[in-house]
Parts: sequence; C-alpha cells; structure tokens
Amino acid sequence: MLQKTSHFMRQANLINGEWVQADSGQTIDVINPATGLKIGTVPKAGGAETRRAIEAAEEAFKSFRKTSALERSKLLRKLHDAIMDNQDVLAELLTLEQGKSLTESRGEVGSSAAYVLWFAEEARRTYGDVVPSPWADRRILVTKEPVGVVAAITPWNFPSSMLSRKLGPALAAGCTAVVKPASQTPYSGLAWGALCEEVGFPKGVVNIVTGSAGEIGDELCTNPLVKKITFTGSTEIGKMLIQKSAMTVKKVSMELGGNAPFLVFDDADLDRAVQGAIAAKYRNSGQTCVCTNRFFVQEGIYDKFVEKLAEASKKLKVGSGLDDGVQQGPLIDVKAVEKVEEFIEDAVAKGGKIVSGGKRHALGGSFFEPTVISGAKSNMKFMKDEIFGPIAPVFKFKTEAEAIEQANDTEFGLACYFYTGDLGRAFRVMEGLKYGMVGVNEGIITTPEAPFGGVKESGLGSEGGYQGMTDYLDTKYVCIGGLGL
Ligand code: ADP
Repeated sequence: MLQKTSHFMRQANLINGEWVQADSGQTIDVINPATGLKIGTVPKAGGAETRRAIEAAEEAFKSFRKTSALERSKLLRKLHDAIMDNQDVLAELLTLEQGKSLTESRGEVGSSAAYVLWFAEEARRTYGDVVPSPWADRRILVTKEPVGVVAAITPWNFPSSMLSRKLGPALAAGCTAVVKPASQTPYSGLAWGALCEEVGFPKGVVNIVTGSAGEIGDELCTNPLVKKITFTGSTEIGKMLIQKSAMTVKKVSMELGGNAPFLVFDDADLDRAVQGAIAAKYRNSGQTCVCTNRFFVQEGIYDKFVEKLAEASKKLKVGSGLDDGVQQGPLIDVKAVEKVEEFIEDAVAKGGKIVSGGKRHALGGSFFEPTVISGAKSNMKFMKDEIFGPIAPVFKFKTEAEAIEQANDTEFGLACYFYTGDLGRAFRVMEGLKYGMVGVNEGIITTPEAPFGGVKESGLGSEGGYQGMTDYLDTKYVCIGGLGL
C-alpha cells in the first residue's frame, strides 16, 4: 500500500513529459491537517516554469488536436480504469493531504473516474451542424474544434474531482492543459500526471506546476498561448483571474463561492430533511461550495427540526480521516478554525444560541465540533459570507414568499435545497430560487450527467452534463461556395 502511495505521491512537477524541480530548487511543505506533520514537499515553481509548461502544451496541441474522437475516448476510458484500479491508494493520498474521511475520499476518487468516463463518452458526440443554406450554390457547415491550451486552477477541498471536470472535457475535446493544483493539496493533482502518463497520453498534453499562486496565475492569465482558463475557488480570486484574462480575451469558466440556503417547509418529511441536512452541511467538514450555509425552517416545525439536527450532528464521529468509521475529519488548517470561531462569536453576540458543538474538538489541532446554532438572524455574518466549516445556523420563517426572498438575498447563486411534500409549492419555490442548482427533497445532487454551475457571482459556465464540453470547443462556421448547383 505505502509503496503504491509513494508511486502516486510525486514531489515534482510534470512539464513536457519530464518530472522536474523548480528552477530555484525551492520547495513548499505539504502538511497532513490531521497531525500537523509534514508529508513531503513539492516544487515552488513560478512564471518561467509555467511558461515552459504552456509552450510544451502548445507544441503537444499541434498533434493532439488531430487525434480522432475515438482515440481520445479510448484514452479517457483507460484513464477511468486506471483511477478505479488505484481507488484505495489515491483515496489514502487524498485523505493524507486533505483530511476528509477515507469513505469520502474513496467517493471523491470514484467521482473523478465517473466524470472521466462521462467525458470519454461525450468525446464522440461533439457534433456540428449542417444548416439549410439560403444560397442554392453554397453549403453551410458548423464544426467544433478544441480551443487549444487550457489552464486549470483547482482548490484544496476537492483536489481530485475538481480536476476531472476540467481535464475530462479538455482532453475529450482535443485540448492540452497546464494544471495548477492548490498548494495545500498538490499530490492528488500531481497524481493525475502519473495516471495520464501511465495510460499513454503523449508528453506535453498534461502539464502540472505547483508553487507561487500569484506568479503561476499571472503567467496563465496573460500568456497569449493559453486560450481558456478554468478555475474553481473563491469569488475574490475568480474575479481577479477574469480581469487578468481580459487582455488576451480568453474563454473563462468559473466555479466560485456559494451561500447555499436549505429551506424546510412545515409539510416536509422531517426525518428525510434532517438526513439531507446532515449530508448537505457536514460533508467534507462543511468545506464545499455547495454545502448549506443557511437553514431556513418554517415556524411550525422549527423546534423539532433544530432538535433532530442537533441530535444527528452530535452523533457524527470526528477524527483522523484514516481511522475507521470517521465521518468528519479536521478542517484544512488552523486559520479555517479561527474563521469558524469568528462566525460563532458574531452569532452569539447577536443572540444566536449554540444547540450543539460550538468549539474546537477535544482532539485539538484543526478539529472542530459539528455545530448547530438556533435563532439565526439576518444581521449575522453567515447570512452573507460563506462559512466553509461545520456550523449550521438555523433561521425561522413564516411564509413561502419570505423564505424565497431571504434565500435569494445574497450575491451568490450556486446550489440550494428545499424540502416540501406539496407539488405546487415544489414548482413555485424551484422557480423562485435564483440558483444554478436546486435539490428538491435531496441534499446531495452532484453527478457527471448533470451540469454543475452557478449564476450571479457564483460563476460562469457548467461542468458536467453535455454542457460541460461546450466551453472547451470553438464553433467554426464554414461556407462552401461555387458549387454550381
Ligand atoms: P480557496 O483557498 O478557498 O480554495 P482560492 O481562490 O484562494 O480559494 O484558491 C483556489 C485556487 O486558486 C488555489 O489553487 C490557489 O492556489 C489559487 N490561487 C490563489 N491565488 C491566486 C492567484 N493570485 N492567481 C492564480 N491562482 C490563485
């Protein structure tokens, strides 16, 4: 097991088929959040290494773009198989650097493989059109072509699966890529390099650089060879990347922050709602962009819901992700814990009541207790800001209209959830919520078949679904004239 892990734990960057160190020889330490101990290092690369990676991707694009859709589909299917063959080892590596439970890591790696398989299938369906021509002697074709070199920047919360939604469609379309994984969790990203090599993607098709986010990001955004930036992370950094990419008019896909509301109506199946709430709140210790940020519960079942949610949250087993049966691992670092504490202090100062949890876990480090706060009010910080931690603030509402208004009162628009037993209400609320994704009586909804993406300041574009390919393809209109018909 350990030997296999070290095979995937690459402490080097992949540029043009070579595993290399930073020009300066400098490295960044990678820390296990469960122990605070160093796992290893990765190169601290900057602009020069990134430029070489982009040039390698551009060179590789010249031939990769000419491969047939079937060839790329077969390579992606092999990649899917390689991921699944190594699911346990890759999951262990993910837990080591990220902290989430092994169960969740296996799920994430499985999800990565599922996205790759989906895009292996979609690769063969990038159809164009033959459009009825207004001219008797001309024909109109519309074709799809890969955009070119794609830059992918990914976050630490899903270091494996976020890449599958970017590399999957990029490779399916015939693009080449330069990837920058988050510095906290680089190994799961670098492992994609080892896997792509293993299954036979040509050198330079996938390049991976780690290091200074600012320097690497600047090069990726300003280098004219890069035709598309795909990013998952904070809205703040996303806005900056859009601005920087504007000078070379790159395509951009942005999966940014969320502020997911979770509405529970009096007519809901309460136990189902609580079960969904636990999954939608505490998965990955609350560190996902689709995690519930605000619960809105109708007054008739408010007390019962709070009681059941608190009860269920207390049962969650907190510990090192590698230990058996653990459901909630540590937060990514102590800074994240301090941020969670600020949210709680603010809520308590404004009259919120801690019903369960509320403090650092007895295990120490960056472990935090799953927390439920009742009496949440709209002047509390979590009304507007993303918590990214295991706190469940519960607001009370009276009417459907009021619940929709409060749920929409945010600049974000990624995921939202609601529970009701009334069909008419289900449609009214679904249509009233200004979000890119809606779970009706479901707390976990992500799947490769469906388009994942936000509206408002939560992002641009979709990942997954047939829509997930479109941003990696240029549309070309071809007019064939002089046919003499
Ligand atoms: P979070 O830390 O919440 O995941 P960030 O937006 O800070 O969100 O980070 C997401 C990714 O963006 C990471 O890979 C990070 O290294 C990268 N990043 C951070 N700052 C920059 C930047 N200035 N340019 C490019 N990438 C950046």
